[in-house]
Amino acid sequence: MIIDPHAHMISRTTDDYEAMAKAGIVAVIEPAFWLGQARTNVGSFIDYFSLISGFERFRAGQFGIRHYCTIGLNPKEANNEPLAEAVLDVLPRFLAKEGVVAMGELGYDEQTPAEDRALRAQIELAKEFDLPIMIHTPHRDKHAGTLRTMDVLKEHNFDPARCVIDHNNEETIRDVLERGYWLGFSIYPQTKMGSERMAVLVENYGPERLIVNSACDWGVSDPLAVAKTARLMAQRGVSAEAIRKVVYGNALAVYGLNGEMREEHWLAPAPIDQRTLYEGNSVLRGGQTPRIEQPGRPVDELRIT
Ligand SMILES: [Zn+2]
Repeated sequence: MIIDPHAHMISRTTDDYEAMAKAGIVAVIEPAFWLGQARTNVGSFIDYFSLISGFERFRAGQFGIRHYCTIGLNPKEANNEPLAEAVLDVLPRFLAKEGVVAMGELGYDEQTPAEDRALRAQIELAKEFDLPIMIHTPHRDKHAGTLRTMDVLKEHNFDPARCVIDHNNEETIRDVLERGYWLGFSIYPQTKMGSERMAVLVENYGPERLIVNSACDWGVSDPLAVAKTARLMAQRGVSAEAIRKVVYGNALAVYGLNGEMREEHWLAPAPIDQRTLYEGNSVLRGGQTPRIEQPGRPVDELRIT
């Protein structure tokens, strides 16, 4: 069984969901992030948060995958300050929703004062709502930005055991491990972190607190990246126990902290029934035959295909 704890599924197709389920992915977490272009009003955020906690959750379920999300104002759009204020005001109504497992993606993009304010306000919100945090680390000045983010979390007394620092690489792993955080690694095809490099990190640092994700979205990315990395690690002789931690157990441990994400959701799942409607909408198009089946998988199965 595999969990992909960072997947922007609203950008992906039903083929992706089918392939992910076939590869053993039982659950995904969809972090709130930016859309490729800036939103111009708070209503767009409200609808987006509703979508990732509503219809997308339904859509995933129609293919036998349990869907959770994180809610937050991303650092890029925190730079539109009047809009950021309005978004921060509406966040609380989404934080207690069913299926919300953390606040995120929070952090820095260009490391501006506006980003800093939004980050600090949201760390306090996460404490208030007893939610873990998913941190997006910047692509530019990654190492410095990652250290700064951890300093800010510490200033606010946020418990590292309730926080995932995401998008790590060889440059950041040591510092983040030392400070006691969970570490996300996004496996992108061709560039940045590939499956090979990930396997080497697990061999060198061990599996404790390391979490593999695909970060698949509207860009060049691979929704099967976690499954492929698991397979590669198995081929290289990484133990099944270690693989299970980095593609399943660690994600469940931290994102299960607020009780919304539970193993029983996929061990004793609701049946797939594609006759089901969400606000009158179906995933099926004219005349297609609905899938109606009981999913459910044995507990110890790590299916890597
Ligand atoms: Zn993301």
